[in-house]
Amino acid sequence: MSIELWGQPTVDDAMAVLGALQDEVETLSGVDASDRLSRVTALAAQLDAYRVSLVDTIRTSEVWRETDPNGTPASYLRNEHLMDQRQAKSDLRTATAFTRFPELAQACRAGRVSRAKVDVILAVGLKNQHREDALGDFIAIFVDLAARVTISDLKRTLELWADQIDPLPSPGDGKDAHARRELRIHQLGDGVKLDGFFGPDQGMRIMVAINGALDLHRRENPDAKGAAQADNANAEHGNYRITNSTGSQRADAFIDAIINPILQAGSLPTSGGAPANICVTVPLERLQSPDSPVDVDELKDRLANGTLRHHSAAVGTTNGPGNLLINAAKAQQLSCDATIQRIILDPVGKPLDIGRRTRVIPEQIRTALVIRDGGCRFPFCDKPAGWTEGHHIQHWSQGGPTSLDNLILLCSRHHHQVHSERIPITMGRNGIPRVALEHRYSDRL
Ligand SMILES: [Zn+2]
Ligand SMILES: [Zn+2]
Repeated sequence: MSIELWGQPTVDDAMAVLGALQDEVETLSGVDASDRLSRVTALAAQLDAYRVSLVDTIRTSEVWRETDPNGTPASYLRNEHLMDQRQAKSDLRTATAFTRFPELAQACRAGRVSRAKVDVILAVGLKNQHREDALGDFIAIFVDLAARVTISDLKRTLELWADQIDPLPSPGDGKDAHARRELRIHQLGDGVKLDGFFGPDQGMRIMVAINGALDLHRRENPDAKGAAQADNANAEHGNYRITNSTGSQRADAFIDAIINPILQAGSLPTSGGAPANICVTVPLERLQSPDSPVDVDELKDRLANGTLRHHSAAVGTTNGPGNLLINAAKAQQLSCDATIQRIILDPVGKPLDIGRRTRVIPEQIRTALVIRDGGCRFPFCDKPAGWTEGHHIQHWSQGGPTSLDNLILLCSRHHHQVHSERIPITMGRNGIPRVALEHRYSDRL
């Protein structure tokens, strides 16, 4: 397909060209695709430069006064183009910077420097008056550098430059990062997501604590060490640190070495008499027979008349907000080794009777269990006893006794695995329980 342009090209022409390119993309060889990719990356920069020129025309034309006499260019971009405030400000900043620094505009329009790199140069270079005054003398150097290096290398060089020309932070500067500190905890459908930002001081404390937790985790968990070694040869020299650990190793280290000791120490204040701990509520029949089939007709009726209530368990905190629904297997796992308080609720959820708090596994039995098992009994796991939970081979709610020959120590990861994969545990003739891993394969043979 060939496209001929007659007279002044339009945006529609460009869209037609892109459509034609997209249509043939599956017929390209890998080499051709790679060649196209570098040219399209340049084209994207050109297109971004064109966008900025349009924003600049909107800004200088004052069209934004027509729809709202009290408007601003930013409010116009927000309302007419559905930009959020951050994007509108960034576009406007770039538009004025292109007028002030023609080298920057030219490099972007020629496709040599991407918009993302332009943003990095402007974010660092225009951060305060001092830098802004100096930027003009250096802009040609930064444009040249931006065309040759990655964004992170460009950013590093700009920060070194800023440190040279602007060594004393202007008022508010040094506190900027600290002022932005936040920790967000999102309850998602199936878990909790942490998302945070900390300034350099608090941030380094976190790095120190996580590094320490990872070191401990590595010592206690040879599997993790192996993974890190495969990941990075430095691990052999003890450099098993934040950068070369995986997300799941960091998560385990965070819980095992930082969060669990805090909860176990019991040093957090109580709130309204409730200790800082997790609380699982579960209907007894759900624990006793998690597999019992659902009555389909009853379920249909309840869906239709809006009386469907959650039949499974919930896990929550006792000292503040936080609540998640969990499945029956998870509820069984959490109640395997727990403090139990029987609370009988009426159908609308009002407590009718409240029993005493008792530990499912009394202290003496737990001690004997630690002496017998030593630590996690899962094959090839050597988590120490302090990081394990007692698991009922037959769950107590289904009549399993809390006695040594119905208990086994498992670390939290393997406890979870035993419940979720329903791995059977057998008692050896020597009185030592074994995790029967081979069950997984016997099904298929
Ligand atoms: Zn268990
Ligand atoms: Zn284990």
